[in-house]
Amino acid sequence: MADIGIGIVGCAGRMGKRLVTIANESDGCHLTGGTVRAGSEASGRDIGELAGVGRLGLTAGESAEDLFRHADVVIDFTTPEAAEENANLAAAHATSLVVGTTGLADSQKNALAEAGRKVPVVYAPNMSLGINLLSLLVERVAEALDEDFDIEVLEMHHRHKVDAPSGTALALGEAAARGRGIDLEAHAQRVRDGVTGPRRRGDIGFATLRGGDVVGEHSVIFATTGERLELGHKSSDRDVFARGAIKAALWTKGKGAGFYSMRDVLGL
Ligand code: NAD
Repeated sequence: MADIGIGIVGCAGRMGKRLVTIANESDGCHLTGGTVRAGSEASGRDIGELAGVGRLGLTAGESAEDLFRHADVVIDFTTPEAAEENANLAAAHATSLVVGTTGLADSQKNALAEAGRKVPVVYAPNMSLGINLLSLLVERVAEALDEDFDIEVLEMHHRHKVDAPSGTALALGEAAARGRGIDLEAHAQRVRDGVTGPRRRGDIGFATLRGGDVVGEHSVIFATTGERLELGHKSSDRDVFARGAIKAALWTKGKGAGFYSMRDVLGL
């Protein structure tokens, strides 16, 4: 079968550069192009040179439309606004889409799901194998333990991260809520400040740390009187996310329309 053509939106970003690098060295695919934010100083430069892998003969453009026209699958690690626009373009150009962008509002997630009615769309706030396994374990443990166990999700990321709690922390909270058979929205305690009163039984709490160059650390704590169970994951290299995204892009080949998760891609 012919190689799959991959386009990268936001190819000058932290993740974008790693996606260009990993796609360039992966079997079964080739890069068709990359875009950058309008007015970016990276506009017009070679996407390989931006990523530090040498000239690839592909120029970073500003037209997402062109990118979608020439790629079989587009990967988006940018902003929620761009992800929403890209969902519309994916549907309009019959191009598969892989989205790793976090901080999406419900309406933006709905736009991805809507595109998934026309083309394969993979959306995952975390593309690493370890985190997707952790989420399965969290769901299983939450199913086994009752509300005597308080659930808290703790995360730390680098100082540049703009959304909180992280998309992964929220996804782990969702997994815990699913396991316990409750609605996360109704039980999430996302911020605590001042005189909060005692912890409400059954809530799922979140705590956020930001600093330095931490790639991503998450733990889910199940605490009761006299004992505490902690499940955790640490990423030390962004390439685990980039490799997961390329794997997802390759996986879309030959797939029917659908709104898929990394659990589908990894067969978990
Ligand atoms: P970053 O700020 O380094 O990169 C984002 C890039 O997108 C920037 O270069 C920006 O200029 C560009 N951009 C913004 N709007 C654009 C547009 N309309 N067209 C083209 N380019 C555009 O951020 P990052 O650390 O690479 O993270 C990007 C996103 O990916 C964040 O939401 C982050 O939380 C998420 N992320 C997800 C995973 C995962 O596994 N799913 C892993 C790491 C990061």
